[in-house]
Formats: sequence, C-alpha cells, structure tokens
Amino acid sequence: KLTSREFHPENTVVNVDGVKIGDGSMTMMAGPCSIESSDQIRECARIAKAGGATILRGGAFKPRTSPYAFQGLEEEGLKYIRQAADEFDMKVITEVMDEAHIDMIAEYSDILQIGARNMQNFKLLQAVGKTGKPIGLKRGISGTIDEWLNAAEYIAAQGNFNVIFIERGIRTYETATRNTLDLSAVPLIKKLSHFPIIVDPSHGVGIWDLVPSMARAGVAAGADGLIVEIHPDPINAWSDGPQSLNEKTYMRMMEEVHIIEKAM
Ligand code: PEP
Ligand code: MN
Repeated sequence: KLTSREFHPENTVVNVDGVKIGDGSMTMMAGPCSIESSDQIRECARIAKAGGATILRGGAFKPRTSPYAFQGLEEEGLKYIRQAADEFDMKVITEVMDEAHIDMIAEYSDILQIGARNMQNFKLLQAVGKTGKPIGLKRGISGTIDEWLNAAEYIAAQGNFNVIFIERGIRTYETATRNTLDLSAVPLIKKLSHFPIIVDPSHGVGIWDLVPSMARAGVAAGADGLIVEIHPDPINAWSDGPQSLNEKTYMRMMEEVHIIEKAM
C-alpha cells in the first residue's frame, strides 16, 4: 500500500507552500469553526498567529447536523479567510464537502480538509486527490484505523502524497465528552504510515476547558501538530462555541504546548 511504512520507510513531509508538516517540528493550525465575517476571521488570524500558529482554519462550507443550522458563508467566507491569512502571513485550511466546489475552494485554500463525515466519500477522496493539493483527512466519526488508512490510500492512489491525518475523536458509548479522542492513533498511525498526523482536541472533547490538556497530550504522544478552534467571543460563536478557546485561554495553552514541544 502507498500509505504504508513498508512502501515508504521515511516520514513524508507535507510542504504547504513553505510551511512543513511532519518535519519534526510541531505545526499549529488555529481559527474559528465557521468564518462569520471579515472582521471575525481577521481577529482570529491575529490571535492564532500571536500564539504561534502558521495555518489558519475556518469553515465556509459547514457539515451541520441540522439542515436549519448555519451552513457557512461559502465563497464569500473563502475570500475573507484568504485575505486574513495573507495579512498575517499564514496558510489556509478549509473543508470541502462537494466535488463540485473543489476547483473554486482550491483557489483560496492551501490545504483541503475532508471532514469526518466524508472520510469514506470515495469519489470526493479521488477528486481531491487529483488536485495534488495537501489534504487534511479527518478520521471518520466511527472510522477504524484501517478504514482511515484506506481512505488515505484513495488519495495517494491518485498520485497525491500530501496527506495529513487528523485525529478528531471517535464516537464511543461515552457521552460526557463530544467524542472520545483516540490518542493511541498518533503512535499507531506513525508506525503504520509515513504520512504526518495532527490532533484536533477541540472536536475530540467538545468542551473548551478540556482542550488544553488534550492538546498537550497530543504533542506528548508525538503528533506533528494540532488544529484548534478559537473565537474572539466563544459564547456568541455561530458554531462550536462551547469547544472554542478565547484569546486568553488559547495563549495560555500555547505557552504550555511550547514547553511540551521543547521537551520532545
Ligand atoms: C470542523 O473542523 O469544524 C469539523 C466540522 O470537523 P469534523 O469533520 O472533524 O467534525
Ligand atoms: Mn467545528
């Protein structure tokens, strides 16, 4: 298999236009769940960058459980995130939900994110694979490690060796947290595959004050980076406010994360 260590013993470093993921350093991605306005994403970029993030996250096409919930600003949002990222010299990661939007989203975003709900949308995986762009592949809500590796294989089979695994928690019997963050996936994926893996503690736990502990644990487990949701005013966020850090809590978390990073 193209994703396997046997096929490719050395770590693959994904180069996002100069920002490297999997080169031994820790790559930080941060931003809001949803892009809400030009001001909101700009403020998120400022905060994200101040804490050491080099990649700005933000959803413009949102996979919401309810069809009546905010679905994203779509292309207007992509313009805002690109502008904010450029102003703070950052790269962009945003989700692609539909094959029909790939070319348009690829004009604005440096990394294409495949959401948990689409981990096994095989046509979408093949189509993003064909772009050759870096792909952030979230683990499916009930995705096994084997299914996740095979999903990456769909991308690699298109000749795209720019896959970044994103562990974001899986659904278990436990309901006290939004998902169960499976940190054993970090060393396991690194053992089985040459592609980098980063951790998303925000969706992993769904509760903001648990996020810093799991972020530190993710780095200690050997993750190549983190992706974290932040918001200038989490209580009024249009999506995922309860799991979003504000400026103060994000900056404090990053100080702790940098300590673990140095110790690694
Ligand atoms: C997100 O990153 O905002 C998101 C919807 O994540 P996931 O696909 O992991 O649920
Ligand atoms: Mn979210």
